[in-house]
Amino acid sequence: MVEATPKRDIRKLNLDELKEFFVQHGDKPFRAQQVYEWLWKKSAKDFTQMTNLSLQTRELLNTHFSINHVKVDQMQRSTDGTIKNAVKLHDGLIVESVLIPTEKRITACVSSQVGCSLDCRFCATARLKRMRNLNPDEIYDQVVAIKEQSEMFFNRPLTNIVFMGMGEPLLNYANVIAAIDKITSPGGLNMAAKRLTVSTVGIAKMIIKLADDEVKFNLAVSLHSALNDVRSSIMPINDTNTLEELGDALKYWYAKRKRKVTYEYVVWKGINDSEEHARALLKFCKIIPCKVNLIEYNPIDEGEFQQASEQSLTMYMNLLEENGITTRIRKSRGKDIDAACGQLANKS
Ligand code: SAH
Repeated sequence: MVEATPKRDIRKLNLDELKEFFVQHGDKPFRAQQVYEWLWKKSAKDFTQMTNLSLQTRELLNTHFSINHVKVDQMQRSTDGTIKNAVKLHDGLIVESVLIPTEKRITACVSSQVGCSLDCRFCATARLKRMRNLNPDEIYDQVVAIKEQSEMFFNRPLTNIVFMGMGEPLLNYANVIAAIDKITSPGGLNMAAKRLTVSTVGIAKMIIKLADDEVKFNLAVSLHSALNDVRSSIMPINDTNTLEELGDALKYWYAKRKRKVTYEYVVWKGINDSEEHARALLKFCKIIPCKVNLIEYNPIDEGEFQQASEQSLTMYMNLLEENGITTRIRKSRGKDIDAACGQLANKS
Protein backbone atom coordinates (compact mmCIF):
# COMPACT_ATOMS: atom_id res chain seq x y z
CA MET A 1 0.00 0.00 0.00
CA VAL A 2 1.31 3.44 -0.85
CA GLU A 3 1.09 5.83 2.02
CA ALA A 4 -0.05 9.35 1.27
CA THR A 5 2.71 11.91 1.69
CA PRO A 6 2.07 13.81 4.89
CA LYS A 7 0.66 17.25 4.34
CA ARG A 8 2.96 20.19 5.05
CA ASP A 9 2.04 22.82 7.57
CA ILE A 10 1.28 25.72 5.25
CA ARG A 11 2.15 28.39 7.79
CA LYS A 12 5.75 27.17 7.81
CA LEU A 13 6.06 28.68 4.31
CA ASN A 14 6.91 32.32 3.82
CA LEU A 15 5.28 34.39 1.11
CA ASP A 16 8.00 33.69 -1.46
CA GLU A 17 7.79 29.96 -0.90
CA LEU A 18 4.05 30.09 -1.31
CA LYS A 19 4.44 32.07 -4.54
CA GLU A 20 6.83 29.42 -5.80
CA PHE A 21 4.28 26.73 -5.00
CA PHE A 22 1.63 28.44 -7.09
CA VAL A 23 3.98 29.05 -9.99
CA GLN A 24 5.02 25.39 -9.93
CA HIS A 25 1.36 24.46 -10.13
CA GLY A 26 0.71 26.72 -13.10
CA ASP A 27 -1.00 29.48 -11.16
CA LYS A 28 -0.24 33.16 -10.71
CA PRO A 29 2.11 34.25 -7.90
CA PHE A 30 -0.45 36.78 -6.62
CA ARG A 31 -2.57 33.84 -5.50
CA ALA A 32 -0.02 33.43 -2.71
CA GLN A 33 -0.80 36.91 -1.45
CA GLN A 34 -4.50 36.05 -1.15
CA VAL A 35 -3.77 32.83 0.69
CA TYR A 36 -1.25 34.51 2.97
CA GLU A 37 -3.83 37.07 3.95
CA TRP A 38 -6.30 34.31 4.79
CA LEU A 39 -3.71 32.47 6.83
CA TRP A 40 -2.51 35.37 8.94
CA LYS A 41 -4.65 38.48 8.80
CA LYS A 42 -7.94 36.59 8.70
CA SER A 43 -6.71 33.57 10.70
CA ALA A 44 -8.51 31.03 8.52
CA LYS A 45 -8.74 27.65 10.19
CA ASP A 46 -9.70 25.77 7.04
CA PHE A 47 -9.15 26.11 3.29
CA THR A 48 -12.93 26.08 2.70
CA GLN A 49 -13.07 29.52 4.34
CA MET A 50 -10.97 31.01 1.53
CA THR A 51 -13.98 31.96 -0.52
CA ASN A 52 -12.24 34.24 -3.01
CA LEU A 53 -10.27 31.25 -4.31
CA SER A 54 -11.69 28.81 -6.84
CA LEU A 55 -12.80 25.43 -5.60
CA GLN A 56 -9.95 23.94 -7.60
CA THR A 57 -7.35 26.09 -5.85
CA ARG A 58 -8.79 25.26 -2.44
CA GLU A 59 -8.62 21.57 -3.28
CA LEU A 60 -5.05 21.92 -4.51
CA LEU A 61 -4.09 23.50 -1.22
CA ASN A 62 -5.94 20.89 0.76
CA THR A 63 -4.09 18.08 -1.02
CA HIS A 64 -0.69 19.50 -0.19
CA PHE A 65 -1.09 21.34 3.06
CA SER A 66 -2.70 21.42 6.46
CA ILE A 67 -3.46 24.43 8.65
CA ASN A 68 -2.34 23.39 12.11
CA HIS A 69 -4.53 25.83 13.94
CA VAL A 70 -4.66 25.47 17.71
CA LYS A 71 -7.98 24.65 19.33
CA VAL A 72 -9.35 26.05 22.57
CA ASP A 73 -10.00 22.73 24.22
CA GLN A 74 -11.41 24.08 27.43
CA MET A 75 -12.29 27.54 28.61
CA GLN A 76 -12.74 28.51 32.26
CA ARG A 77 -14.06 31.84 33.52
CA SER A 78 -13.08 33.35 36.82
CA THR A 79 -15.48 35.30 39.00
CA ASP A 80 -13.31 38.36 38.25
CA GLY A 81 -13.85 37.95 34.48
CA THR A 82 -10.47 36.38 33.72
CA ILE A 83 -10.64 33.59 31.15
CA LYS A 84 -8.21 30.69 31.08
CA ASN A 85 -7.87 28.62 27.92
CA ALA A 86 -6.45 25.15 27.65
CA VAL A 87 -5.14 25.29 24.12
CA LYS A 88 -4.64 22.06 22.21
CA LEU A 89 -1.81 21.94 19.69
CA HIS A 90 -1.87 19.84 16.53
CA ASP A 91 0.15 17.07 18.21
CA GLY A 92 -2.23 16.88 21.17
CA LEU A 93 -0.05 18.75 23.68
CA ILE A 94 -1.71 21.45 25.74
CA VAL A 95 -0.61 24.93 26.75
CA GLU A 96 -2.53 27.58 28.64
CA SER A 97 -3.30 31.17 27.79
CA VAL A 98 -5.21 33.77 29.76
CA LEU A 99 -7.42 36.77 28.98
CA ILE A 100 -7.21 39.41 31.70
CA PRO A 101 -9.83 42.17 31.59
CA THR A 102 -9.44 45.46 33.44
CA GLU A 103 -11.34 48.70 33.10
CA LYS A 104 -8.93 50.10 30.55
CA ARG A 105 -7.32 47.08 29.01
CA ILE A 106 -7.81 43.58 27.78
CA THR A 107 -4.56 41.69 28.05
CA ALA A 108 -3.65 38.36 26.52
CA CYS A 109 -1.12 36.34 28.49
CA VAL A 110 0.40 33.73 26.18
CA SER A 111 2.70 30.73 26.47
CA SER A 112 5.94 30.33 24.53
CA GLN A 113 6.85 26.72 25.36
CA VAL A 114 5.05 23.53 26.38
CA GLY A 115 6.18 23.22 29.98
CA CYS A 116 9.35 24.94 31.15
CA SER A 117 12.98 23.99 31.76
CA LEU A 118 13.79 26.63 34.36
CA ASP A 119 12.82 25.07 37.64
CA CYS A 120 11.91 28.21 39.58
CA ARG A 121 10.96 26.78 42.94
CA PHE A 122 7.77 28.80 43.40
CA CYS A 123 6.24 28.22 39.96
CA ALA A 124 3.73 25.51 39.06
CA THR A 125 4.78 25.46 35.40
CA ALA A 126 8.25 24.37 36.51
CA ARG A 127 6.77 21.05 37.53
CA LEU A 128 5.94 20.22 33.93
CA LYS A 129 9.16 19.43 32.19
CA ARG A 130 9.78 21.28 28.96
CA MET A 131 8.26 19.24 26.14
CA ARG A 132 8.91 21.50 23.20
CA ASN A 133 9.03 25.03 21.87
CA LEU A 134 5.90 26.54 20.39
CA ASN A 135 5.98 27.44 16.70
CA PRO A 136 5.33 31.05 15.69
CA ASP A 137 1.84 30.18 14.45
CA GLU A 138 0.98 28.46 17.75
CA ILE A 139 1.89 31.61 19.65
CA TYR A 140 0.02 33.76 17.13
CA ASP A 141 -3.08 31.53 17.37
CA GLN A 142 -3.27 31.96 21.15
CA VAL A 143 -3.46 35.71 20.61
CA VAL A 144 -6.09 35.30 17.89
CA ALA A 145 -8.23 33.11 20.16
CA ILE A 146 -8.09 35.71 22.95
CA LYS A 147 -8.78 38.54 20.51
CA GLU A 148 -11.93 36.68 19.44
CA GLN A 149 -12.98 36.09 23.05
CA SER A 150 -12.35 39.72 23.86
CA GLU A 151 -14.68 40.82 21.08
CA MET A 152 -17.27 38.13 21.81
CA PHE A 153 -17.47 38.35 25.61
CA PHE A 154 -16.46 41.93 26.31
CA ASN A 155 -17.27 43.69 23.08
CA ARG A 156 -13.88 45.35 23.33
CA PRO A 157 -10.65 45.00 21.38
CA LEU A 158 -7.60 43.22 22.68
CA THR A 159 -5.20 45.96 23.80
CA ASN A 160 -2.10 44.28 25.27
CA ILE A 161 -0.10 41.08 25.07
CA VAL A 162 2.26 39.72 27.68
CA PHE A 163 4.54 36.72 27.23
CA MET A 164 4.01 35.57 30.78
CA GLY A 165 2.35 32.22 30.27
CA MET A 166 4.15 28.90 30.26
CA GLY A 167 7.78 28.74 29.27
CA GLU A 168 10.74 31.05 28.87
CA PRO A 169 10.30 33.24 25.76
CA LEU A 170 14.02 33.95 25.40
CA LEU A 171 14.79 30.23 25.22
CA ASN A 172 12.49 30.05 22.19
CA TYR A 173 13.89 33.24 20.75
CA ALA A 174 13.48 32.83 17.00
CA ASN A 175 9.88 31.61 17.19
CA VAL A 176 8.83 34.28 19.68
CA ILE A 177 10.35 36.99 17.50
CA ALA A 178 8.70 35.52 14.38
CA ALA A 179 5.32 35.44 16.17
CA ILE A 180 5.75 39.05 17.33
CA ASP A 181 6.64 40.09 13.76
CA LYS A 182 3.32 38.67 12.59
CA ILE A 183 1.36 40.09 15.54
CA THR A 184 2.70 43.58 14.88
CA SER A 185 2.70 43.56 11.06
CA PRO A 186 -0.12 45.05 8.96
CA GLY A 187 -0.38 41.67 7.24
CA GLY A 188 -1.10 40.11 10.63
CA LEU A 189 -2.80 41.64 13.67
CA ASN A 190 -1.22 45.08 13.27
CA MET A 191 -0.78 45.63 17.00
CA ALA A 192 1.68 48.25 18.24
CA ALA A 193 4.90 46.72 19.61
CA LYS A 194 4.71 49.01 22.64
CA ARG A 195 1.60 47.07 23.68
CA LEU A 196 3.65 43.89 23.96
CA THR A 197 5.78 42.80 26.88
CA VAL A 198 8.15 39.88 26.92
CA SER A 199 8.94 38.60 30.38
CA THR A 200 12.16 36.73 31.04
CA VAL A 201 13.77 34.96 33.93
CA GLY A 202 16.84 37.00 32.97
CA ILE A 203 19.01 35.28 30.39
CA ALA A 204 21.81 37.80 29.96
CA LYS A 205 23.06 36.90 26.51
CA MET A 206 19.55 36.86 25.07
CA ILE A 207 18.82 40.30 26.55
CA ILE A 208 21.91 41.50 24.69
CA LYS A 209 20.55 39.88 21.54
CA LEU A 210 17.22 41.69 22.01
CA ALA A 211 19.17 44.94 22.14
CA ASP A 212 21.19 44.08 19.04
CA ASP A 213 18.01 43.12 17.19
CA GLU A 214 16.52 46.50 18.15
CA VAL A 215 13.20 45.06 19.19
CA LYS A 216 10.43 47.54 19.87
CA PHE A 217 8.45 45.70 22.53
CA ASN A 218 8.78 46.06 26.32
CA LEU A 219 10.95 43.95 28.54
CA ALA A 220 10.09 42.60 31.98
CA VAL A 221 12.48 40.63 34.17
CA SER A 222 11.37 38.24 36.90
CA LEU A 223 13.79 39.33 39.56
CA HIS A 224 12.39 38.22 42.94
CA SER A 225 15.67 38.84 44.71
CA ALA A 226 18.63 41.17 44.22
CA LEU A 227 20.96 39.05 46.35
CA ASN A 228 22.78 36.31 44.44
CA ASP A 229 22.63 33.59 47.07
CA VAL A 230 18.91 34.03 47.70
CA ARG A 231 18.07 34.37 44.02
CA SER A 232 20.09 31.24 43.18
CA SER A 233 18.28 29.29 45.89
CA ILE A 234 14.86 30.02 44.39
CA MET A 235 15.79 30.44 40.71
CA PRO A 236 18.55 28.07 39.59
CA ILE A 237 19.09 30.11 36.40
CA ASN A 238 20.88 32.63 38.62
CA ASP A 239 23.84 30.22 38.99
CA THR A 240 24.77 30.79 35.36
CA ASN A 241 23.22 34.25 34.92
CA THR A 242 24.26 36.16 38.01
CA LEU A 243 22.82 39.51 39.00
CA GLU A 244 26.05 41.18 37.81
CA GLU A 245 25.71 39.62 34.36
CA LEU A 246 22.02 40.46 34.29
CA GLY A 247 22.76 44.05 35.31
CA ASP A 248 25.39 44.42 32.57
CA ALA A 249 23.03 42.99 29.95
CA LEU A 250 20.30 45.39 31.06
CA LYS A 251 22.70 48.34 30.83
CA TYR A 252 23.52 47.32 27.27
CA TRP A 253 19.81 46.91 26.50
CA TYR A 254 18.92 50.32 27.95
CA ALA A 255 21.73 52.09 26.10
CA LYS A 256 20.19 50.92 22.83
CA ARG A 257 16.51 50.84 23.67
CA LYS A 258 16.04 53.77 26.08
CA ARG A 259 12.94 52.29 27.66
CA LYS A 260 12.33 51.40 31.27
CA VAL A 261 12.46 47.75 32.19
CA THR A 262 9.88 46.28 34.58
CA TYR A 263 11.01 44.04 37.43
CA GLU A 264 8.56 41.46 38.67
CA TYR A 265 9.08 40.71 42.30
CA VAL A 266 7.23 38.56 44.81
CA VAL A 267 7.88 39.18 48.51
CA TRP A 268 7.82 35.98 50.55
CA LYS A 269 7.75 35.53 54.26
CA GLY A 270 11.21 34.69 55.64
CA ILE A 271 12.81 34.61 52.19
CA ASN A 272 13.11 38.21 51.01
CA ASP A 273 10.88 40.27 53.30
CA SER A 274 13.50 42.10 55.36
CA GLU A 275 14.88 45.57 54.80
CA GLU A 276 18.23 44.19 53.67
CA HIS A 277 16.46 42.62 50.68
CA ALA A 278 14.50 45.75 49.89
CA ARG A 279 17.73 47.79 49.98
CA ALA A 280 19.40 45.31 47.64
CA LEU A 281 16.47 45.69 45.23
CA LEU A 282 16.74 49.47 45.44
CA LYS A 283 20.44 49.23 44.58
CA PHE A 284 19.66 46.98 41.60
CA CYS A 285 16.99 49.44 40.49
CA LYS A 286 19.64 52.12 40.12
CA ILE A 287 21.39 50.23 37.32
CA ILE A 288 18.92 51.43 34.67
CA PRO A 289 15.58 53.27 34.79
CA CYS A 290 12.91 50.81 35.82
CA LYS A 291 9.52 50.14 37.36
CA VAL A 292 8.77 47.50 39.96
CA ASN A 293 5.70 45.30 40.08
CA LEU A 294 5.28 43.68 43.46
CA ILE A 295 3.26 40.59 42.51
CA GLU A 296 1.00 38.84 44.94
CA TYR A 297 2.13 35.26 45.52
CA ASN A 298 -0.17 32.55 44.28
CA PRO A 299 0.37 29.52 46.47
CA ILE A 300 1.10 26.37 44.53
CA ASP A 301 1.74 24.04 47.42
CA GLU A 302 1.70 23.80 51.17
CA GLY A 303 3.98 25.92 53.21
CA GLU A 304 7.39 26.51 51.74
CA PHE A 305 6.55 29.82 50.08
CA GLN A 306 4.14 32.21 51.73
CA GLN A 307 3.06 35.69 50.81
CA ALA A 308 4.79 38.26 53.03
CA SER A 309 2.84 40.51 55.38
CA GLU A 310 1.26 43.82 54.40
CA GLN A 311 3.93 45.56 56.49
CA SER A 312 6.76 44.06 54.45
CA LEU A 313 5.06 45.11 51.23
CA THR A 314 4.59 48.62 52.55
CA MET A 315 8.24 48.69 53.63
CA TYR A 316 9.30 47.78 50.07
CA MET A 317 6.84 50.20 48.55
CA ASN A 318 7.92 53.14 50.72
CA LEU A 319 11.64 52.56 50.27
CA LEU A 320 11.34 52.30 46.48
CA GLU A 321 8.90 55.18 46.07
CA GLU A 322 10.93 57.46 48.36
CA ASN A 323 13.83 56.86 46.03
CA GLY A 324 11.85 57.67 42.91
CA ILE A 325 11.16 54.13 41.68
CA THR A 326 7.60 53.67 40.41
CA THR A 327 6.22 50.69 42.27
CA ARG A 328 2.87 48.96 41.90
CA ILE A 329 1.32 46.17 43.89
CA ARG A 330 -0.26 43.71 41.47
CA LYS A 331 -3.17 41.75 42.81
CA SER A 332 -3.73 38.31 41.35
CA ARG A 333 -6.36 37.73 38.72
CA GLY A 334 -8.08 34.45 37.98
CA LYS A 335 -6.82 32.75 41.11
CA ASP A 336 -10.00 30.68 41.52
CA ILE A 337 -9.38 28.94 38.20
CA ASP A 338 -5.58 28.57 38.60
CA ALA A 339 -5.02 31.20 35.94
CA ALA A 340 -2.81 33.54 37.96
CA CYS A 341 0.97 34.02 37.58
CA GLY A 342 2.85 30.82 38.18
CA GLN A 343 -0.28 28.67 38.38
CA LEU A 344 -0.38 27.47 34.79
CA ALA A 345 0.14 23.75 34.97
CA ASN A 346 -2.52 22.03 32.84
CA LYS A 347 -4.43 20.98 35.93
CA SER A 348 -7.80 20.73 34.29
N1 SAH B 1 9.74 32.55 32.11
C1 SAH B 1 9.30 33.90 32.03
C2 SAH B 1 7.83 33.99 31.73
C3 SAH B 1 6.92 33.49 32.83
S1 SAH B 1 6.11 34.86 33.47
C4 SAH B 1 9.66 34.65 33.30
O1 SAH B 1 10.18 34.00 34.21
O2 SAH B 1 9.51 35.85 33.38
C5 SAH B 1 5.38 34.31 34.89
C6 SAH B 1 5.62 35.31 36.03
O3 SAH B 1 4.97 34.82 37.19
C7 SAH B 1 7.09 35.40 36.37
O4 SAH B 1 7.38 36.70 36.79
C8 SAH B 1 7.20 34.44 37.52
O5 SAH B 1 8.33 34.68 38.30
C9 SAH B 1 5.90 34.70 38.24
N2 SAH B 1 5.48 33.58 39.10
C10 SAH B 1 5.81 32.29 38.99
N3 SAH B 1 5.20 31.57 39.94
C11 SAH B 1 4.48 32.43 40.67
C12 SAH B 1 3.60 32.29 41.77
N4 SAH B 1 3.36 31.11 42.30
N5 SAH B 1 3.00 33.40 42.26
C13 SAH B 1 3.21 34.61 41.69
N6 SAH B 1 4.02 34.80 40.64
C14 SAH B 1 4.64 33.72 40.14
